[in-house]
This record gives sequence, structure tokens and C-alpha cells, in this order.
Amino acid sequence: MRQNGEAAIFFENGPAMLRRVIGRAGRTLRAALLPQQCRLCGLPAGDALLCAGCRADLPVLPAVHCPTCALPLSTPGICGRCLKKPPSFDTTQACWQYAEPADRLIHALKFHARLPLAGWFARELHGLGMPHCDLLLAMPLHPRRLALRGFNQSVEIARPLARLASVRFDAFGLERLHDTPPQRELAWSQRRRNVRGAFAVRARVDGLHVVVVDDVLTTGASLHEVARVLKAAGAVSVNNLVLARTP
Ligand SMILES: [Zn+2]
Ligand SMILES: [Zn+2]
Repeated sequence: MRQNGEAAIFFENGPAMLRRVIGRAGRTLRAALLPQQCRLCGLPAGDALLCAGCRADLPVLPAVHCPTCALPLSTPGICGRCLKKPPSFDTTQACWQYAEPADRLIHALKFHARLPLAGWFARELHGLGMPHCDLLLAMPLHPRRLALRGFNQSVEIARPLARLASVRFDAFGLERLHDTPPQRELAWSQRRRNVRGAFAVRARVDGLHVVVVDDVLTTGASLHEVARVLKAAGAVSVNNLVLARTP
């Protein structure tokens, strides 16, 4: 009886399973035979996402930068703004400055749903070296924005990063309560006030070292507010990993 049941399951799922296996083999074969096109210029890029030229064009964050907010500086140390009003987060690591052509790559993921880029971004972030991390969280989107976009780019990057770094990731650990679009005309202190109360912590973070993933750090007001509520909930340290820092 049992054997008949298993056979029936095989025959029911067999064609679909076969299609999946053939589909996977086809994709692997295509990737091996046809070189990928560079995501930025369209030239052949072998099995990489970017050609060597575009890769060299990425505006790597200068070695001399503020350890707190990753702002490029002319002399080593903490930047004036972090000294004057220390943010709630401890450190920020960034791959690039938010400039050509890194901004186009981030834009492609965010607004054109180029999701394969997320795994590549995760590898780039992993290359920076993971700070002490008991729990990885992602900058949340407001549910309304999430519904419009269909995905949260920070979650898409954090998930493969957690696998690479073998750390725990909670995609629902942070929640955005208010949709506050960045208001560039506001002064920095006003921006901080603007995002106050915009986030809630849903994960248990008491006694944990938390790392937060975001795509771009511009004023740092949102990351400051996220770190503030995380520390209020008992997080020992909050370190940021971002793709790009606005110069
Ligand atoms: Zn290229
Ligand atoms: Zn700073």
C-alpha cells in the first residue's frame, strides 16, 4: 500500500521534478557557455557581474574616513559632526562612496528589481569584514512602500550576507511605523527629530551585538534612530554595514 502511494507521488510530481532538473542544468550550461554582460556597460564580463573596467571605476571609500559614520576625511579621526552630536550607532563600514557608478548599481537593485545584484552586494559587504554580530537586522521599509516595491533591498542583501557570515538574521526584527521620506531641505538636527519614533524593535536584542544593513548612508538620521531604539531595547552594540556613503 505504502509503496503504491510513493509511486503515485513520484508519477504525480515526476514531470515537474524533471522539468526543474532540466531547467537547472540548462541555466548552468548557459552560464558556462555564454559570458555574462557587465551590468553597467554591457560588455562581456565572464562569470562576473561587472567587467574589469567598471569594477575599477567603483568609487571605493577612502581609507581615511570617520569610523563612526564612514564620512571621507582629510585627516584620520572622528568627524566634527559625530564629535558634536554622537550618533547612537557605534561604527559604520561602507563599500563605496555614493557616486558614479556605484549609485547606478544601487539604483538598479532598488528601482529596477535587479535582484541578482543583492547577492553580489552581500559578498562585497562580507569582504569588508563582519563586526561582532549576534544578530543581523535590515533597515525596514514602511509596509506601504514595501507593497509598492515588492521587496526590501536591505533585506535582500542581508539574507545572503547572513549565510556568508554564518550569523542569525531576522527579517522582521525591525519595523517602520511611519513613512518619512527624506527631507533634504531640513537641517540635520531637524531630520533626527523627523525620524524620532519611526521604528520599533520586534526582535529580542537584550544583551546582543547587533549589525544593521542599509543601502546608503546620507545623513545617518534613520540609522541613528534605529540604533537608539535597539540600545533602548538592550542591544550592547550597534554597528552599520552600508553599501555606500554620501560624500
Ligand atoms: Zn562594464
Ligand atoms: Zn562621523
